[in-house]
Amino acid sequence: MSSQDDIRRDLCRTYVEMGNSGLIFLAAGNVSARAGNGMLISPAGASVASISPELFVDCDFDGQANDGKKPSSEWAMHSAIYKAFPHAHAVVHTHSNYCVAMASTGASLPAFHYMVASFGGSDVRCTPYVLWATSELADLAVEALQGRTACLLGNHGMISHGKSLQAAFNAALRLETLCMQYVLARQAGTVKTLAAEQMADANARYASYG
Ligand SMILES: [Zn+2]
Repeated sequence: MSSQDDIRRDLCRTYVEMGNSGLIFLAAGNVSARAGNGMLISPAGASVASISPELFVDCDFDGQANDGKKPSSEWAMHSAIYKAFPHAHAVVHTHSNYCVAMASTGASLPAFHYMVASFGGSDVRCTPYVLWATSELADLAVEALQGRTACLLGNHGMISHGKSLQAAFNAALRLETLCMQYVLARQAGTVKTLAAEQMADANARYASYG
């Protein structure tokens, strides 16, 4: 099992990678990992320029920090995911450009490419819009994530979880790329989506890859 120092280093590396990949601008994005009986999460007002391992906040699932620091305003959404999905060990939330573009239509990302199956189903759901940093948003995210490792947040962004920080980050980057490709496909013409059985085959193949 990783020590808290190791998790802090991994979180910091992931946060910087999110910035370098264009997933974060200014303070719009946060990352956490399960630690002890709670989580380590990026601090309120974090930025890629100022982040460091010791700034991550050690808090319980009620947002109470052990060290008096202030967790990301979206701590409740992270907590709700850890409580609902025992296999989730890391969570990534971003306002990346194409996820925001898709989430502003209110529509799910459909089965336009077999890689949509990598999130666990035949689409990536989009929640209705509700105010950020609320328990209502946390509940809607958990609902949209049933059987999925990522969802879009209506008129807001996206959130993903994974068995590891790398898996949660990869899901965020993959969803951003797929949303970009779907937006491009719509500009190119009428998009042909895959049939339910084709997506079921893709899901089965992903499942066999572990
Ligand atoms: Zn947000």
